[in-house]
Amino acid sequence: MTAEIAVISGKGGTGKTTFSAAFAALANGIVIADCDVDAPDMHILLQPHTKQTMEFKSSKVASINQELCTQCGVCHDNCRFDAANPPEINAIACEGCGVCAYLCPEEAISMDNRVSGMLYYSETRFGPMSHAKLLPGEGNSGKLVTDVRRQAQEMAKERNLDRILIDGSPGIGCPVIATVTGISIGIIVTEPTMSGIHDMERVAGLLDKFGVSGAVIINKYDLNVENTQQIEEYCQENGLYLLGRVAFDSIMTESMVAAKTLPEFAPSHEITGFVRKMWSAIEEILLQEKKEKV
Ligand code: SF4
Ligand code: SF4
Repeated sequence: MTAEIAVISGKGGTGKTTFSAAFAALANGIVIADCDVDAPDMHILLQPHTKQTMEFKSSKVASINQELCTQCGVCHDNCRFDAANPPEINAIACEGCGVCAYLCPEEAISMDNRVSGMLYYSETRFGPMSHAKLLPGEGNSGKLVTDVRRQAQEMAKERNLDRILIDGSPGIGCPVIATVTGISIGIIVTEPTMSGIHDMERVAGLLDKFGVSGAVIINKYDLNVENTQQIEEYCQENGLYLLGRVAFDSIMTESMVAAKTLPEFAPSHEITGFVRKMWSAIEEILLQEKKEKV
């Protein structure tokens, strides 16, 4: 069975993608899935070579057949988004609700599929990568995340790889719910600030609701040692694995700027050593949980 490991964070800017990319480099053959479809950034570090691009169509847009339209104005009067201006539809303002098509006495309006984003099948130096980009202003990010995961699962089958590493989106909204449903383990990257703790607790609660094991990495732990202790206590009290703490270090930013993962940019650095230990611990947890399920 394929293990799905999702790196998530209650809030943005905690270092989630830096850790995800480092784990991808250490995994020795893995499928990578970037499920942060609103603001994907794994591709910046992994520089994938895209083999296939597919349109993601999940919403509708109205269009008027000008030969049938009598300019009666019914569509204009009933469009709550001010998008129907016969004989034209403002495609950007149109929310695809279909009211105009329903009311048009001439049946002059059709509802067409709208391209809401792109889904990519790519190759990286660490393994195949499934990723996507939602177009500006488009919704349904949860559905696109599901497509990214489905494609990653197909890649794993094709290549006979038994692990998928997911870079999730921040927060606890629809794309995160679509990311964590049915995964093997959620790795929460947090930092010792009040908002970091609050958001970690929320995303840990989400994992709990979905019956998914959670593990925590405390990034920049030395920013506030008291808060770090509070996070560690929370992990103990709530059955979360504590993978470790990493001090603030400019090496993280420097590796990002160089578009390299930590193990590539600074293989002998102390932080890379910590990340290696964390990845070993994740593999150990997966093995242990697999044994317990048998
Ligand atoms: S409701 Fe139909 S016929 Fe009337 S203006 Fe709109 S498109 Fe034209
Ligand atoms: S589909 Fe809805 S939002 Fe779009 S033009 Fe028609 S009434 Fe307006």
